[in-house]
This record gives sequence, C-alpha cells and structure tokens, in this order.
Amino acid sequence: MSAAPRITILPDHLVNQIAAGEVVDRPSSVVKELVENSLDAGATVIRIKLEQGGKRAIRVEDDGSGIEPGQLAAALQRHATSKISSLADLENVSSMGFRGEALPSIASVSRLALVSRVQHPESPHGWQVKVRRGEVSAPEPAAIEQGTRAEVLDLFYNVPARRKFLRADRTELQHAERFFKQLALGRFDLALELESDGRTRYQFPPATDRAQRERRIGKLCGHEFLQHSVWVDEQRGDLTLHGWVAEARYNRARADMQYFYVNGRPVRDRVVAHAVRKAFADVLFHGRHPAFVLFLGLPAAAVDVNVHPQKLEVRFRESRMVHDFLFSSLSRALSDAGAGAGALRPGSELGMGMAVGAGIQLGITLPVREQIRAYAAVLGSDARQSGHEAMAGEEADIPLLGFALAQLHGVYILSQNAHGLVLTDMHAAHERITYERLKSLQAGDGIKTQRLLVPLVVVVSESEADFAEAASEELLVLGLVVDRSGPESLVLRELPALLAHGDPSALLKDVISNLQNDGQSSRVEEASNDIFSTMACHGSVRANRRLNGDEMNALLRDMEATERSGQCNHGRPTWIQLDMQTLDRLFLRGR
Ligand code: ADP
Ligand code: MG
Repeated sequence: MSAAPRITILPDHLVNQIAAGEVVDRPSSVVKELVENSLDAGATVIRIKLEQGGKRAIRVEDDGSGIEPGQLAAALQRHATSKISSLADLENVSSMGFRGEALPSIASVSRLALVSRVQHPESPHGWQVKVRRGEVSAPEPAAIEQGTRAEVLDLFYNVPARRKFLRADRTELQHAERFFKQLALGRFDLALELESDGRTRYQFPPATDRAQRERRIGKLCGHEFLQHSVWVDEQRGDLTLHGWVAEARYNRARADMQYFYVNGRPVRDRVVAHAVRKAFADVLFHGRHPAFVLFLGLPAAAVDVNVHPQKLEVRFRESRMVHDFLFSSLSRALSDAGAGAGALRPGSELGMGMAVGAGIQLGITLPVREQIRAYAAVLGSDARQSGHEAMAGEEADIPLLGFALAQLHGVYILSQNAHGLVLTDMHAAHERITYERLKSLQAGDGIKTQRLLVPLVVVVSESEADFAEAASEELLVLGLVVDRSGPESLVLRELPALLAHGDPSALLKDVISNLQNDGQSSRVEEASNDIFSTMACHGSVRANRRLNGDEMNALLRDMEATERSGQCNHGRPTWIQLDMQTLDRLFLRGR
C-alpha cells in the first residue's frame, strides 16, 4: 500500500494560473477584463490595440483615474481590489469588477505590463511595472498621459495546452470585435477605438445625439440594418424602452445582431428573449433571427444585476410586467413598420396597391378560378393558354409566385397567382438564389467546384497577383483554385460549379478586389456577404436571355424556396405583386 498523499498549499503563481482558467479563455476575455477596469476607473476614452487577433499583444489604454505608483504592485495581487471592502459593499456594488482576480490571473498566463499616471501636479510622468513569472518588478518611470495602459503579450505562452486552443488570428479578432461592438453600442458616451495589426478598424467619437448614434450603429451593424430598422421609444410607468429594431424582412441566420441592455449593461436574459421571440413570431421565417439594439430602463431596485459573475444575466422583480411591456412595445413597432400580420402593404412610389417582396412569407389561400380565367383573358391568348394549362383541373395551391405567363422584353417574368399578377426581375431573382446557395454551401459542406478543362490564364496587375498568391486559401474556400503563373498573371483551374456559366475571368478579378477591400472592411460578415453578392452577380442569368415556360417556372419555384428571395442582394425588390383590386382600380372597374 502506498503512503497517503501529502497535502500542500499551492504557490500563488499556480493559484493564479488556475484562476486564469476561469477568467481568461481567449484574447477577447482579456480585452473584456481590461476594458471593464477602464470603465470602473471612469474612463471617457478607451483604445484597444490587438496584434495577431490579440494572441501576440493586447493593449488597452484609458484616460481614467489611474493608479498611484505605490499601488501598482498591489493591483496585481490576488484579491486586491479598490472596489469593495466589506460584505455590505458587495450588496451595492455597481462596478464591473470587484473580485480582484483579473489582473493577477492575466499576469500569470502572459507577459503583463501596467503603466499608469494619476492626475497630480507633482506627477510629471507615469510609472510602469512588469510581471514576469509571478514576480512584479519595481516601478519605473514611463511616458503616458493621464490614465492607464495595460499591455498583455504572448497570451498563454507558458500554458501550451491552452495556447493550442486559440484559433486563427481572424477568428480571435472576431471574438474581440464582438465584445467591442457590444461595448460601443452600449456606451455612446465614450470615445472608442479598435486597432488590429496597426490598422484602425473602428474609431468613434462620443455620440450624443441620435444622428451620431445612428452613424455609429451603421458602422457596427451595417447600413442595411439601419435602413430597415424602426426607432422605438416607449414608456410605461417606470419602464422605458428605446432603440432600433429591424423590421422582419431584415433578419439573420444567426442571433448575432441582438444587442439588449438593461440600465446600460449588456444582458442575455430569458424573459427578454421570450418577449422578443413572441413579438416576431408571426412575421419572421422559421429559423431566422431578428436584429435589434435596444435599451430597457427601469428603477435600480426593480432589477438584480449581481446574480451572475459576469453580470450577463439579471433578475427582474416583476418579470411578467417587463415581459408584457417588451412584447407590446415591440409588436407595436413592428406593425407600425408595416411588417406585421399583413405583409402585403401598399407601396407609395407607383401610387398603387403593390406588395414588394416581403409577401413571400405569407401562406396564400386557394385560388378563385373564375378570377384567374378572367384575368388570363386580359393578358391575351398566349397568357391564357399557359396560365390555363398550369391551373387546369387542379384545385391544388397556387404557388406564391404563381405560374409563368410570359416574359417581357427579356427582363421580367409575368406570372399569375391567387392575388393577381406578379412581375419578377429575372436577373435579380436568379442572383438572389445563387447568393443564398453560395452562402449555405459555404456554411455547410463547402462550395462545390468544377474543374476547367483548359485552365484559364487571367492577366492582372502585379499587386493583384501578389495578393491572390497570398490569399490562395481564402480563394479556395470560395471555390476558386488559383495559381500564380507569372509576375502579372494567374491561372484559374477550378471555379464554383454554380458559377460555371458566367465569365470566370471577370469573376476572379472581382473576387480579388473584394477580398482586398475586405482587409479594410470593418465587418467580416458584411465583407463575405459582399463577396458572395459579387460572385452571384457573375453566375446569374443576364437580362435579355430568353427563358422558356419551364425555365421561368423553375426560377419562380427556386425563388419561393429561397429565403429572403423578396429582395436581391443589392436590396432591390426581386418581384412585385399587382393584385386584382389594384388592376381594377387602374381600369376604373367597380367604381
Ligand atoms: P477588480 O477589477 O475586480 O477590482 P482587477 O484585478 O481587475 O480586480 O484590478 C485590480 C485593481 O487594480 C482594481 O480594483 C483597480 O483599483 C486597479 N485597476 C486596474 N485597472 C485599472 C485601470 N485601468 N485604471 C485604474 N485602476 C485600475
Ligand atoms: Mg477588474
């Protein structure tokens, strides 16, 4: 029998490393802890600088209260905090941190330096300390304006098992950006900056009025979100709700554009989530997610924010009331936006009743056969025939976009459905279908490629060639297999099967230029959607191509099956409905 194990007290450094396992799992969580310290210090300006997605370096600078030189070492000790000193304080704590764990934990798994300067006539410069293997160096003078700069180098350099789990720079950057967005949308009062590998990704002055706030939102959530969103400003008793919510036809594949704040804090909460889901239940496609930036205000006593260590969850004293308030406010906003139960809403531009795109989500009832017959007659014999044949003898549902009657000048498909006439822009429609397919292929098994029988040489500029060579992996993900074949030429070997009928050389050049801009684009998702949009454009039926009846019907069926097919990727509608009443009105019937 072996001896019983000996019990020993763990050394501080190890304790910190173990704690780090809970506080810090990737660069973005370091950014979050450092930023929260800046917020607690009353900062009005916060700059975040990352290298290699934060794996190589994370720097957070603020203009907050600073730390006295004599306190720098203390700040790095475990359970050292300036924020509470008794259990009574804990009940009322309003700061983000209070456990005194973040800095020592981070320091135990990285090379950390803390530079700080307090506002004081006798402090002409700041002071810096460094932590190496648990040892805090003596403070040395350092250059800094008022405030604090924390620098975290080589995260997990001494914990290979965790370092291994860090993802590609780009992925880590995305995580940090997600946190930054949540911060920037919740704190319009702050000046904020995010820099990655020496390039500014976001730079925001404080946003005080609504126009300035919307400018910030446009940069963070995209202008499409803003264009489709309605302003909510509701009050009931002590409760207030304000912010931006996108009408249902702007929606997302993931719940990644949902920013909800309770008394200024970002919150994930079941009561809130349920109220939102209910408000959107009738107007959103199944499996799609709404987008919003919303701020709920209520008296501090009506909500407990300290139930969760990261304060992401809250507990409402009167959750029923909060739920009903949210639900009714959002429902009203959505129906005001015209996206409520009746998606067939009047269009004003043409001065006639017209449903644009959004009608796609409605189930449509059985046809009135007489109406269709009469209507087909109006459209002429050709139309009557095909319309008639398609309907003949069946009481089955007429598809949403109806059956094709004819093609107009090689641009529009005319079809008839239960409501009347549908006009479809065939190029825009096809583009939308291709776009959604590319997106879902990429999200699934990847974009299927087709090998070119004869590889295609594409002449480009030298910088484009350099770029394409370096970006060959990204191109591969997009289904483009490209090699360099000279200083100013590339050779394209494979391309997405979906786009095989387009112009491959134009496609490649456009994708390269898009990827090049992607580097500067602030939103990774918007950028990749841009690329798909560009690609889809190349693979789509051009205007002026004649389609036969089967081809037209196939296109209409594809559109019905494609989510958000009501709009093409450029935000233009793909189809419009002219219902019978509208047509009757045009012909002054029944007046
Ligand atoms: P906590 O935030 O839970 O108190 P931390 O380990 O994050 O613990 O920070 C320890 C202490 O260091 C804080 O209580 C605060 O006094 C000081 N400190 C950290 N960062 C800053 C900063 N950016 N500005 C001013 N003081 C800071
Ligand atoms: Mg802290």
